Amino acid sequence: MAKIQMTTPLVEMDGDEMTRILWKMIKDELLTPFIDLKTEYYDLGLEYRNETNDQVTVDSAEATKKYGVAVKCATITPNAARMTEYNLKEMWKSPNGTIRAALDGTVFRAPIQVKGIEPCVKNWEKPITLARHAYGDVYKNTEIKVPGAGRAELVFTAEDGTEIRQTIHEFDGPGIIQGVHNTDKSIESFARACFNYALDIKQDLWFATKDTISKIYDHNFKDIFQDIFDKEYKEKFDAEGIEYFYTLIDDAVARVMKAKGGFIWACKNYDGDVMSDMVSSACGSLAMMTSVLVSPDGVYEYEAAHGTVQRHYYKHLKGEETSTNSVATIFAWTGALRKRGELDNIPELCDFADKLEKATLGTIESGKMTKDLALITDLKDVTALNSEQFIKEIRKALEEEL
Ligand code: NAP
Ligand code: MG
Repeated sequence: MAKIQMTTPLVEMDGDEMTRILWKMIKDELLTPFIDLKTEYYDLGLEYRNETNDQVTVDSAEATKKYGVAVKCATITPNAARMTEYNLKEMWKSPNGTIRAALDGTVFRAPIQVKGIEPCVKNWEKPITLARHAYGDVYKNTEIKVPGAGRAELVFTAEDGTEIRQTIHEFDGPGIIQGVHNTDKSIESFARACFNYALDIKQDLWFATKDTISKIYDHNFKDIFQDIFDKEYKEKFDAEGIEYFYTLIDDAVARVMKAKGGFIWACKNYDGDVMSDMVSSACGSLAMMTSVLVSPDGVYEYEAAHGTVQRHYYKHLKGEETSTNSVATIFAWTGALRKRGELDNIPELCDFADKLEKATLGTIESGKMTKDLALITDLKDVTALNSEQFIKEIRKALEEEL
C-alpha cells in the first residue's frame, strides 16, 4: 500500500521524559509506516531548550504561526529540582506559556470517552469540551495584606493624568485586598477563539460568568461575547444549526451536571481552572484528555493534557517495565493530521486520523489497555499491557482498519 503524501509540514515539537519515549514509539509504529510524514522538527526537550537559551521554543511558536498546525509532546517546566537535575543556565519559562503568549491562544480540553471507562456523571454521553480563558484575573493579581485601620482605594490614572478613584473599603482593622484586571483585547480574542472552535467542531457554545454580582467586570465579558456573536457569528451559527448561549455560572454548573454533553463550555480563567479538573476527574484519567490551543486567527497546536509522566520515566531508566497510556498523545497526532488534511484538502489524511482513533478506542474496548485504565474499567476480561505492547496492539487494529 502506498504511503499517504502530505503537502505542508506539521510543526513537530518533541518533549521530555516518558512522553518523549512514547512519541518515538507512536511515530515508528503508527505513523511513518503509513504516512510519508512531513514535519518541521523542533526539539523542545529541556536539554536543547537550555542549549539554545530557550530560542527553540520561540522558533517553534513562530513556525506554528507560519504553517498553521503543530503537534506538541509534553515538556518539563523547570523548577528548583530540575535546575540541578539538568544543570540549567536559567529556570526557563513553561514552553506552553511561551507558545500560548505567542499565539494569543485559548486552550480547549476534552475527555476522550470510550466504552468501559464511563464518566461518574452517568448522563454525560458525549465529551464536554472546556475552553479556559488563559489571561488575567486572579492569575495576574496584585495583593496587599492590610496591616490595620485605613482606607483602600481603587485608582486608575489615564495617560493625560486624569484619575478615576473609588473607595474599596474603610478598614477598621487588619484585612486583605486584591487587584485584578483584564483587557478587552484579550477577551475579544478569547471570544473569537471560542466561536471559531464551535463552528469548527459544530457544537453549541455555552458561556457563563457571575455578572449579577460583578456588574462591571464580569458583565464586560458577557457584553463582549454577545457583541462579537451578533456582529460576526450569528448567521454562521444559524447555518450550522448550532447555538451560543450565555447564562449565570451557577446555572451553568447545574445544567452541566444534568446535560448529555457534546458542547463547549467557555469559562473565565479561574472557573476554567477548577471546572476542567472537575470534568477530567469525572471522566477517569488525565491520560484520556486532549488539549488544543487555538489562536483567534485559526492556528492550532495539539497536545496531551498530561505532563511528562516523570515517575514512569525513572522506572524506564532503571530498565523496569512501564505501562504508560499513550492515548492522549496519539490523539494529539490525529488531531493535527486531520486538521492538516482539512486545510490542504487531503481526505486520505483525515481518513487515516479517523481510523487511528477508531483503532485506539477499539483496542481498549476489546479489553487491551494500560494499567491506569485497567484499574478503573468496568469491562470484564481485561489485559493490562506495557507501554510498547499497547501501541503494538493498536497497530494490529489499525492495519485491520486500513
Ligand atoms: P504528569 O506527568 O501529568 O503525571 C502525574 C501522574 O499522573 C503520573 O505520575 C501518573 O500517575 C499519572 N499519569 C499522567 N499521565 C499518564 C499517562 N499518560 N499514563 C499513565 N499515567 C499517567 O504530571 P507530573 O508528574 O506532576 O509532572 C511531570 C512533568 O510534566 C513536570 O516536569 C511538569 O512540569 C510537566 N508538565 C508538562 C505539561 C505539558 O507539557 N503540557 C503539563 C503538566 C505537567 P502514577 O505515577 O500514579 O502512575
Ligand atoms: Mg487546576
